[in-house]
Amino acid sequence: MRPGTRTPAHTTGHLAELVCSNSLGSDALNRAPGLLKAELRRLGSLLLELAEAHRVPAGSALAVDREGFAAAVTARLESTPRITLLREEATAIPEEGVVILASGPLTSPALAQALAAWTGTGALYFYDAIAPIVDSGTLNFDIAFRASRYARGDQEEGDYINCPMNKEEYQRFVEALLSAERIPLRDFERDDPHFFEACLPVEVLAQRGPDALAFGPLRPVGLRDPRTGRRPYAVIQLRQDNAAGDLYNLVGFQTNLRYGEQERVFRLIPGLENAVFVRHGAMHRNTYINAPRLLQPTLQFKARDTLFCAGQLAGLEGYAGNIMGGWLAGVNAARVLQGQTPLELPPTTMAGALMAYITQADPEGFQPMKANFGLLPPLEEVLRGKRARGEAHAHRALADLEEWITALDALPRPPE
Ligand SMILES: Cc1cc2nc3c(=O)[nH]c(=O)nc-3n(C[C@H](O)[C@H](O)[C@H](O)COP(=O)(O)OP(=O)(O)OC[C@H]3O[C@@H](n4cnc5c(N)ncnc54)[C@H](O)[C@@H]3O)c2cc1C
Repeated sequence: MRPGTRTPAHTTGHLAELVCSNSLGSDALNRAPGLLKAELRRLGSLLLELAEAHRVPAGSALAVDREGFAAAVTARLESTPRITLLREEATAIPEEGVVILASGPLTSPALAQALAAWTGTGALYFYDAIAPIVDSGTLNFDIAFRASRYARGDQEEGDYINCPMNKEEYQRFVEALLSAERIPLRDFERDDPHFFEACLPVEVLAQRGPDALAFGPLRPVGLRDPRTGRRPYAVIQLRQDNAAGDLYNLVGFQTNLRYGEQERVFRLIPGLENAVFVRHGAMHRNTYINAPRLLQPTLQFKARDTLFCAGQLAGLEGYAGNIMGGWLAGVNAARVLQGQTPLELPPTTMAGALMAYITQADPEGFQPMKANFGLLPPLEEVLRGKRARGEAHAHRALADLEEWITALDALPRPPE
């Protein structure tokens, strides 16, 4: 719809305009975003090919000259004879034909409204408040303990990981939280009246009073610290975030602190001293659907096989993940038009694991996800060291992808 109808963040009329960072993330094969890019390359992604053609030096990351990249994508699509580019705002979901919705985190209000009406209440979010996710293998279980609130002593090990705090630890934490550096809000976010009502960042809640957190998300009721047998002053609860059970999110910890500050302040929580953050908390306007409730792993809506969703709107986070979603939705839309079965990517690939996560995660409190190794099924052998595990994941993923491609009729080619 750009440049005629603008969004609050894009500044040009180009397709594939990167609104913030010009980095598509790590390109190292033993890192999750790097594996995702290797898979995209193997699948013949046009966007990745053009990103590489406009690469700028950025260590092991794939960063692009954003102007050159977006201009090249625009030129390629404009010059492809079988693509007609209509620069218009879509205000309704087309009822006929095969359709892909990929209007991104800044979906125009009219389309967002139409989508909300179509998907029903509670299935479309307007503001994103993401809590950090940590690798549970890096928690200190000499302090952290498993329990569910109000569980009886004879009940099995609880669902939550709990990090208890005494009064001094709590006060020190709140003090650090209040003085930590935040990411400045952009004008359009600051002006929005629903921003803080919909989802309060933990540092904003803490401002309401010294014990606001202890009576809010950090309330200790129904929990006893097995080390002392007593109720702690405050408790941070961590909730399982993936089926494999190695990722946990910090309940109620949506935040707008700078990433480095999140690590510094949240590691003050007893039990999280050495926690590895696989995703940081973040806040910005973000429109995304409740994919686990609404989508199939082929990116078709459950309620309509000819309607697809891709990009951030589908609950994928990060440029590379969104390129992947676009690839799959595009290929599957073409397959549906040709009477072929839509594709599901192998679950051991980063691409397949991402699609599985967004369509099978707990719909309650669903939040967008980016590539990370925690999404992949566990490796058969136990390996020490992140690097070795990353390499083994990549080796298995690319081998399985190769096998999957061989079994396919033909891999679609991008336009020349
Ligand atoms: C402020 C901000 C900063 C971000 N920074 C980063 C970052 O640094 N790194 C990162 O990996 N991700 C970042 N993201 C997330 C980023 O948006 C996605 O990773 C990626 O751009 C999403 O791709 P997409 O194709 O889903 O959406 P977009 O790239 O936003 O593309 C959607 C397109 O749809 C158009 N559109 C919207 N509504 C309509 C309509 N009704 N009719 C027709 N067209 C419409 C928009 O104009 C836009 O061109 C950021 C998001 C925001 C909002």
